[in-house]
Amino acid sequence: YFIYEAASDPSNPQRLMLMGDLRNAVDHDQLFPHFQPKICLHTGRVTGVETLARWKHPERGPIPPDEFIPLAEKANIIGPLAMGILKKSMAQCQAWCRKGGNIPVAVNLSAKNLLDRTLVKKVGALLTEQGMEPNLLEFEITESALMEDPTHALNILTAFRNMGIALYIDDFGIGYSSLAYLKKLPINAIKIDRAFVMDMTKNSDSATIVRSTVALAHNLGLKVVAEGVEDKATLDELAALGCDEAQGYHISRPLPADGLDEWLAKASSRRTN
Ligand code: C2E
Ligand code: CA
Ligand code: CA
Repeated sequence: YFIYEAASDPSNPQRLMLMGDLRNAVDHDQLFPHFQPKICLHTGRVTGVETLARWKHPERGPIPPDEFIPLAEKANIIGPLAMGILKKSMAQCQAWCRKGGNIPVAVNLSAKNLLDRTLVKKVGALLTEQGMEPNLLEFEITESALMEDPTHALNILTAFRNMGIALYIDDFGIGYSSLAYLKKLPINAIKIDRAFVMDMTKNSDSATIVRSTVALAHNLGLKVVAEGVEDKATLDELAALGCDEAQGYHISRPLPADGLDEWLAKASSRRTN
């Protein structure tokens, strides 16, 4: 026996309706990216932005990506969703380049995106169409996505790296990748999961995980980014640990492109003053 719970029923009518609305939004290209800056912990300079997908439902308002990304995977529309966000992120990156700023954009790819055998070709075609330098594009892929089919993931990552795209392992610390496997992957950087960063100044276990991850990444010749930096104490501690880059609400929330332009202007005037 079990007790019926509408929220966990994949075919509950509300969820099915939301799935239909999401399909419609993807078909009509109504999803859009927000951008959250990452800064270098040594110089304070912006090193790039992470692209985070946003969906504003016509009646329900903003729906968080933690809710609509799994829905898109279920509805088999994660491919077109990712391509739509990727295209808009590339267009924005090109707009920044035209204004004289080279700001790399990091786009999230889900496990289901990696299963698309034509993904590498599609990304290459988009880069050509947008006239974008591949070294301004970065992909964030979670540890667990890479573990679903390690051999296939290795092939895709190798193809992206050969194109000049930088690769990040996202949410590091909550997956189960073996060190031997990590060493084989052609990745550039590790992003420490925000769960550990957010409480590292209060919880000694989290602090130990962050410290060990920084050491591990550096020993493997990888860069380390800490996400979920919510206060100055955390920022200072990360700098003291030798972490390379930081991202989080303390620096800036994810912003629409024009909001980020304003933030960048303020950040550069803070540096020159
Ligand atoms: P993620 O890739 O780990 O992205 C970081 C999340 O942490 C974002 O949540 C961001 O808004 C949030 N965040 C940033 N700084 C802080 C902080 O200081 N404190 C706290 N508490 N949170 C912070 P968001 O935008 O709600 O996205 C949630 C997740 O949805 C992402 O986690 C990612 O897994 C997924 N996602 C978002 N956009 C896309 C996309 O275009 N494609 C795919 N496949 N997944 C996406
Ligand atoms: Ca991410
Ligand atoms: Ca993450």
